[in-house]
Amino acid sequence: MKAVRFHEYGGLDVLKYEDAPEPRILPDEALIRVHACALNHLDLWLRAGVRAWKLSLPHIVGSDISGEVVEVGSMVTRTKPGDRVLLAPGISCGQCEECWRARDSACRTFTLFGVMLDGGYAELVKAPERNVIRIPGNLSFDEAAAVPLVFLTAWHMLITRARLEPGEDVLVMGAGSGVGSAAIQIAKHAGARRVIAVAGSETKLAKAAALGADAVIHHTKQSIRGEVKRLTENRGVDVIVEHVGAAVWEDCFESLATYGRLVTCGITSGGQVDLNLQTLFGRQRAVIGSYMGGKGELMQVLKLLGERKLRAVIDSVFPLKEAGTAQGKMESRDFFGKILLHP
Ligand SMILES: [Zn+2]
Repeated sequence: MKAVRFHEYGGLDVLKYEDAPEPRILPDEALIRVHACALNHLDLWLRAGVRAWKLSLPHIVGSDISGEVVEVGSMVTRTKPGDRVLLAPGISCGQCEECWRARDSACRTFTLFGVMLDGGYAELVKAPERNVIRIPGNLSFDEAAAVPLVFLTAWHMLITRARLEPGEDVLVMGAGSGVGSAAIQIAKHAGARRVIAVAGSETKLAKAAALGADAVIHHTKQSIRGEVKRLTENRGVDVIVEHVGAAVWEDCFESLATYGRLVTCGITSGGQVDLNLQTLFGRQRAVIGSYMGGKGELMQVLKLLGERKLRAVIDSVFPLKEAGTAQGKMESRDFFGKILLHP
């Protein structure tokens, strides 16, 4: 099969479109012909080797995968060849306390397609049957690939971790990202009174407004803190969806209302920050970490996508062999929503 692999860590040029061995399935696995695979920042970190994962090289990244089942193992009962499916991106043991409590991403063996096993930058991928999910409603393969990781992450942040309540005000940082564009929609769906979206271009802000954002902040032209104060009459926001990190930390923390919760799932601008404990306890604020989510949450969010109450946001589609160009676009930050590859 054709795949995009890297044999060493490095820049975009280490990505090679080449022949790779076809995956061989175990009795409890299915083989999927990939129709679409969405990019995530994770792919870039893995390729650059900046994180501590010990990958076996050459490696195939890609965590958000949709396609068609072409073969199933002898123990597979629920899935059959021809099914249109997407893959739940997280793989956990299924038999530890965390898994039983539906906290998959806290499982000690938790990993993702494209991390400790090969991912979707390929014509074929194999998956345990328990990760294979029928595509809900009439979603296209592209829409299905654009959903899992970012909608699951945004749902876990807003609903499970920050416990967003109807009537609350929400600030969404990096509104043009996959997580940001999902968070705007989930917050509105959950009954947020106002969603304020932050991004760095007029185009992104217009798209954020089209997704349901009630107000927008242009972070290169406006002060985030100042605009939040103005829009909320000095009260601040109840929940902040954050993944930018150090560059916006102080602005975000100072934008929280009393009892406000800042929930973060990323540090694209760095992870070391100063925390003012006096303001933390005095204003009864919370800083909450969030990482992925469980399959149960993915099923909840997929129902809403199948009913078109939430919608996948797709920026662009590239042929698999142009994976380097696609990753370059992600690095440039000049995109809104998901960037997809077609094998
Ligand atoms: Zn487990």
